[in-house]
Amino acid sequence: MKVFPPQLWRNKETLYTLIAGKCNKCGNIVFPYQEFCNKCKSFNISKIKLSGKGTLISWTVAYQNRPGFEKTTPIYVGYIKLDEGIEIVAPLTDVDESNLKENSRVEATVRKLKSDSTNGLIEYGIKFRLV
Ligand SMILES: [Zn+2]
Repeated sequence: MKVFPPQLWRNKETLYTLIAGKCNKCGNIVFPYQEFCNKCKSFNISKIKLSGKGTLISWTVAYQNRPGFEKTTPIYVGYIKLDEGIEIVAPLTDVDESNLKENSRVEATVRKLKSDSTNGLIEYGIKFRLV
């Protein structure tokens, strides 16, 4: 899978940190960051860095992946409620399935997402792990 360094650089804020928008008018938090509030439609938005900590609400596991990515299975994906109140779906890492329980605490961490076999570049991004 092709990795494009300029694209990674442009998206560095959202690839390696959890950046959201906070409405200065009504306090609503918008994730991922956008320049207007989806609650009151204000354009008075400030960028904030989310804590990366949250609670695992639910999860699922996939035992199949596309050709060439068989080594990355099984794939764990969590439904997570961040401490700021935002609910997201995100990949889980360092998973011991016997420890996965509803309401477990999780935190964001940077992990390898994919590598480009044509030029050796590796793309990193955020996954969540149990704490
Ligand atoms: Zn608002």
